[in-house]
Amino acid sequence: MFSEKQIQEIRNQFPILKKKIYSNPLVYIDNAATTQKPLKVIKASQNYYTKINSNVHRATHFLSQESTLQVELVRKKIQKFIHAKNDSEIIFTKGTTESINLVASSINFLIKKGDEIIISYLEHHSNIVPWQILCKKKEAFLKIISLNKDGCLNFKDFELLISKKTKLVSISHISNVLGIINSIKDIIDLSHKYGSLVLIDGAQVPSNIDLDVQKLNTDFYVFSAHKMYGPTGIGILYGKEKILDLLYPYQSGGEMIKNVNFKKTTYSDLPFKFEAGTPNIEGIIVWGAAIDFVEKIGVKNIQFYKEKLIKYAIKCLSSIDGIKFYGSINYKKKSSIISFNLNKLHYFDVGSILDRLGIAVRTGHLCAQPLMNFFNVTGMIRASFSIYNTFEEINYLRDGLLKAKKILLNT
Ligand SMILES: *Cc1c(COP(=O)(O)O)cnc(C)c1O
Repeated sequence: MFSEKQIQEIRNQFPILKKKIYSNPLVYIDNAATTQKPLKVIKASQNYYTKINSNVHRATHFLSQESTLQVELVRKKIQKFIHAKNDSEIIFTKGTTESINLVASSINFLIKKGDEIIISYLEHHSNIVPWQILCKKKEAFLKIISLNKDGCLNFKDFELLISKKTKLVSISHISNVLGIINSIKDIIDLSHKYGSLVLIDGAQVPSNIDLDVQKLNTDFYVFSAHKMYGPTGIGILYGKEKILDLLYPYQSGGEMIKNVNFKKTTYSDLPFKFEAGTPNIEGIIVWGAAIDFVEKIGVKNIQFYKEKLIKYAIKCLSSIDGIKFYGSINYKKKSSIISFNLNKLHYFDVGSILDRLGIAVRTGHLCAQPLMNFFNVTGMIRASFSIYNTFEEINYLRDGLLKAKKILLNT
């Protein structure tokens, strides 16, 4: 467990946390949307443009060799971070959303009329819409796993839905709204029994759970850098080599080709087959610094501290009369995300008052409208914690919510 002093030392590495919002200290608890960046990451960005900037895999000159080397080192770093078998299984994309779109586009030829794809009620829009579009194009069917009252996936329903017609199952590892950690290993194993591929949307996972894609035995795993202290605009698709080899290229152009000829063009080997055009070189290299930051603290330590935070948040916020949490509040099954509403107050009004107090939460449909429908609301207030948050900030949130209640109920 970290001492207060250690957390303060970690906080000191995040310059933005010193910022004042309307003359109040910033309480940043919107980490499920994106995390703040430590100095190490900020400096890596400056270092890239002052010392390395050059295109990759192209020229023989010194700088190009250096940027190529650094990019490939980060690919290896990510391979180790998620325990993938080969670094060629790590495809750089813009992020989770693009990774899912890549798969939805590249498996196109595997989906026939009448086939089925399975997702769940609690998916982020980026794990819904690409499959809707694919199903529409191919006259395939999208099946939705229902939820239990506590927001957990209804596994019995999944057993009923899966069949030999299922070509792909795509499920989030951690819900970005409820914070519930889904039992994805059971989903993956049953899907494989029916010969279906599986994609896991892991956007909320890296730095929260020690990831081992080989143990999970998932076919695809996707996430972004920006929710794990890294830059925006960069993420990965992990895929098993033998499956990625089968798939069509996603985008086409430079870098992804071996030989271009008007009669026949041949494609590059993995991973470059899926990396058309100049990649986000800076993003990749800077992400490497974010992984170093996470590994220095240790994923298990981060996980342990965040578990304490969410446990305390549940206890502390439960004391507020009229608060309604969504989904299970069993902190053992949860990452550090909690969503709620306050009496019949509008989430937007509450969020605005919190903002005036310097508290950054997310309000609204949280990119999961079907899940909002499931709970019969149009939006929620979401607090999501990170390694730099403190118990004191949770108290401050509670006080802010009490203040909001007082202001809004009196007028
Ligand atoms: C944030 C998030 C996404 C989308 O990630 P981008 O980085 O915006 O592409 C998808 N799924 C989940 C569960 C998320 O939390």
